[in-house]
Amino acid sequence: MNVLEQQLNHLIDECRPYTAQGKVADYIPELAHVKNDLLGVAICLPDGTYIHAGDVHHKFTIQSVSKALTLCYVLMEFGEDYVFSKVGMEPTGDAFNSIAKLEETVPSKPLNPMINAGALAVTSMILGETADLKIYQFRQFLGRLLNRPVEDITYDEKVARSEYETTDLNRALLYFMRHHGIVDGEVDEIIDVYTKQCAIEIDCFDLARIGRVFAGNGEDPNTGEELIPRRVVRIVKAIMTTCGMYDASGEFAVRVGLPGKSGVSGAILAVGNHELDLSNVGFGIFGPALDSKGNSIAGMKLLELLIERYTSR
Ligand code: GLN
Repeated sequence: MNVLEQQLNHLIDECRPYTAQGKVADYIPELAHVKNDLLGVAICLPDGTYIHAGDVHHKFTIQSVSKALTLCYVLMEFGEDYVFSKVGMEPTGDAFNSIAKLEETVPSKPLNPMINAGALAVTSMILGETADLKIYQFRQFLGRLLNRPVEDITYDEKVARSEYETTDLNRALLYFMRHHGIVDGEVDEIIDVYTKQCAIEIDCFDLARIGRVFAGNGEDPNTGEELIPRRVVRIVKAIMTTCGMYDASGEFAVRVGLPGKSGVSGAILAVGNHELDLSNVGFGIFGPALDSKGNSIAGMKLLELLIERYTSR
């Protein structure tokens, strides 16, 4: 174990007590079974290797971190003019599943792709004859980012079903947007794709690798191959910075100052830059105990301390 890894282990010990102040998400019933005090971090270094500490070998569902990736996918497939004709790029200051701003905005275009309304609009753009073919496209894209075959990119069927059966609010958002011509198609089919997309199983290493790809402007850290065009990465990082942590995005910008994206499973993806001592790395964190805004409570603390201690800014 190198010095940095030792320090990371101390950080985990220091931050784990914060999990007691948070609570695992239970509005998706199947997520409620996860242990509250888990905490893990992986960092993907510029050369594509990892350092890690804590509970990094747990798998979890990607949840809202997927929103940053479906956004990449549709930007690559359909271009920014089309995508931003259906979804905006402004922060809301509201909870991730809020419906409030949809009615205030004419013509009910969701304000950004990181809140549920915007993410559902993005998911509705994915092409394919059936929900399974649509989700296959996304799994394939994720497989390319993670350098793994599509068969390895699987979703947790129980979590997907659990959300599919209970997600009245997301259905409501879709019906509202369909009425206003922002989305078309069958609401249940879009929900099927979205709940499977959110239930894709990943771990801290996967998140860290995605963070590293973003930090390297879309290049594969191992081969140098372009996985995502630089322009798309720039757009997605900008939207992660302003909207990635929902109504805690401002606080996250002050406390951490990096593009980040959270999910209610307790996942946090963060993208390093050249100002950090650990230049251009990717961070993957898992801490399922959430704060009141749906972000990993100990994960946020861990990132904050990491940045404080490893930046010469
Ligand atoms: N699948 C979740 C939902 O739509 C994702 C939310 C999140 O991770 N913040 O409620």
